[in-house]
Amino acid sequence: LEHFLAEPYTKILTAIISEYKPEVFIAGSTTMGRALFSRVAAKIGTGLTADCTGLDIDGEGNLIQTRPAFGGSVMARIKTPNHRPQMATVRPRVFKKAPEDRSRTGEVIKFPLTEDMLTSRVKFIDYIVDETSHVNIEEADVIFSGGRGIKGPDNFKMLFELADMIKGAVGASRVAVDEGWIPYSHQVGQTGKTVAPKMYLAFGISGAIKHLAGMQTSDFIVAVNKDPEAPIFKVADIGIVADLFEVVPLLKKKLEEKLKNA
Ligand SMILES: Cc1cc2nc3c(=O)[nH]c(=O)nc-3n(C[C@H](O)[C@H](O)[C@H](O)COP(=O)(O)OP(=O)(O)OC[C@H]3O[C@@H](n4cnc5c(N)ncnc54)[C@H](O)[C@@H]3O)c2cc1C
Repeated sequence: LEHFLAEPYTKILTAIISEYKPEVFIAGSTTMGRALFSRVAAKIGTGLTADCTGLDIDGEGNLIQTRPAFGGSVMARIKTPNHRPQMATVRPRVFKKAPEDRSRTGEVIKFPLTEDMLTSRVKFIDYIVDETSHVNIEEADVIFSGGRGIKGPDNFKMLFELADMIKGAVGASRVAVDEGWIPYSHQVGQTGKTVAPKMYLAFGISGAIKHLAGMQTSDFIVAVNKDPEAPIFKVADIGIVADLFEVVPLLKKKLEEKLKNA
């Protein structure tokens, strides 16, 4: 069980659920969470809401699972009234980490495994880190994000340069993605990724509600926009009313100086 394999993990979780019959069963909507939960839900014969952005409990104890649907044009609120457990995967980082509370305790229960549970038709051979791709925006502490104001694919290079200097990542608004300036995996927002880095820097992004939905829980937000009325300034901790093409080179110079003296 050292390395994730969907088949044995599914068999084990299915056995644990059959034994303990939980009301609610939740995982992160990560690659592993998605691969595992879809299989477990199918085996158990219960419903699964994937990639939730919100969770709640109604008066009857039903888990209300919220997620964008139809390309983000509606927010669906889904419940599983007739089957248990109620299963959901939740988009990473949509909830803030709970503060550590050492007064809380839990019981560790040892669950006996059988040989059959551990068999798998798929074998783990090796784990190879993808060194070629840039840092994933869901994991980065700092995100440099560009919108329509970036004006084209070539100008995203300057954001990648900034990001590479401090192991940050590059995000984008949907407009930048729809224009084909940067791949969809970089899109932040309701129909993109939800991020909550230590610092989110928005360059030439107006701050539409669909974009804010994916980044407004960031710890610290810096916005650079020519328009002093841009809504992004309402959520920004620091707002710079300026041309991003002047600000980015200055920021790069400052970062270079800092890193040289560090
Ligand atoms: C169903 C649906 C789902 C959506 N999902 C998403 C989503 O997931 N993510 C998302 O981002 N959007 C999403 N959108 C789109 C969203 O509503 C906005 O249209 C989009 O976020 C706007 O992108 P933008 O801020 O880059 O562009 P704009 O709103 O056009 O803003 C560009 C900004 O750049 C500024 N600017 C221009 N030049 C410069 C310069 N040289 N220096 C500084 N500032 C400059 C302008 O003042 C302006 O504020 C969705 C829309 C729909 C209908």
